[in-house]
Amino acid sequence: MTDTKAPELQLQAVAQSTYECLRCAFCYDLSWLGSTNLCPSYTWGSFESYGGRGRVALARALLEGELEYDESLIPRIFACTECRACAEHCFKYIDTVKVYDRMRQDMAVRGLIPPELKIAVDQLVASHNLYGKPHEKRLSWLKDRSRVDQPAPVAFFVGCTPSYVRRSLAEDFYSVLDSSDLDFTVLSDEWCCGHPFLAAGQTERAAEVMSHNVEALQDLGVEQLIFECPGCMRTFREDIPAVLGEPLPFEVLHITEAIAEFVEEGRLQFSIYQPGTVVTYHDPCTLGRGLGIYDAPRAIIAAMPGMRLQEMPRHGRDAYCCGAGSFVRYDYASLTDQTGVERFWEAAATGAQLLLTSCPACVTQFQNVRAALDSPLQVMDLISLVKQVARWK
Ligand code: SF4
Ligand code: SF4
Repeated sequence: MTDTKAPELQLQAVAQSTYECLRCAFCYDLSWLGSTNLCPSYTWGSFESYGGRGRVALARALLEGELEYDESLIPRIFACTECRACAEHCFKYIDTVKVYDRMRQDMAVRGLIPPELKIAVDQLVASHNLYGKPHEKRLSWLKDRSRVDQPAPVAFFVGCTPSYVRRSLAEDFYSVLDSSDLDFTVLSDEWCCGHPFLAAGQTERAAEVMSHNVEALQDLGVEQLIFECPGCMRTFREDIPAVLGEPLPFEVLHITEAIAEFVEEGRLQFSIYQPGTVVTYHDPCTLGRGLGIYDAPRAIIAAMPGMRLQEMPRHGRDAYCCGAGSFVRYDYASLTDQTGVERFWEAAATGAQLLLTSCPACVTQFQNVRAALDSPLQVMDLISLVKQVARWK
């Protein structure tokens, strides 16, 4: 039988936030801005308890003992892509996602985790990747091993999705960095960043993998860590210091920031991809609202000759999620599918020939949606495009 009598609520740490809520509904209803709803979970679930205001109300009821954690709350807490649209638009600046994270932790200690997510994170313990693939194959996409495990001031953190299921992305990212004059390394013993454990509310397991990665990078003298996956980067920048209780011993940088800097310094220029190409850019939730990186990808696109950026109505801090966040596909595939299709149609309606983004999960999601819809709109990671048109000085 499930134990629902755990002694202490992690929610207590964010209790104040739940009392600050005005119940204004700005976190899920933006019709006053002339925008549509930005919460994929509420759009999918239809009940208020799937949106920010409802979840915060649930948290308050749990704190006041009017409600207890049980199975009925599992989708209310976990069917959320953690896209941060609610936190971004909260009238009281409540970090709503922190409230959800605490609820996930409380649910996890009570054994209340969605079944497929539980299987995925259990296998992650042994394989160090979310796909259950052999750890020793993590770098099998990399032919030239000369940089592997070499002491260097910069390291490239590859992440699980490019390492195992989108290896062409790993090759593209590596190739772009290799063409620059960066002295960088990659780890042969890189483990998953730990984000899936946090999504499942399992902080202790996350701490173990975080310590492993930080120590391995420190051993190589790394001072700066470059990412393409925004989820990995946010885990390092925000979650590792919080979970391990100490500052990160190196800087973190997204690859679009590094590329934008090369462009600004005049070290990187671009040839024409296809004359007159119209592109649209999808802000990955974690790169945009999670890390505040909106300008670097746009600066790169602006530097590409013969290319015109046509923004979607919902972009920047108002971007709509692709549907792939926080591993919801494992248990709530229809949420992922419905959200992905809605966002893909929004991209197609711009008239663009190319949908660019900068996140392995978003690229994978949109490539799957494109295939399902048989759409002529091409999908590409921005760095893969950079690789095709780069002219290094
Ligand atoms: S994080 Fe995104 S999906 Fe989750 S409640 Fe907030 S707006 Fe909805
Ligand atoms: S926007 Fe913030 S204050 Fe308003 S209902 Fe949502 S969580 Fe509460």
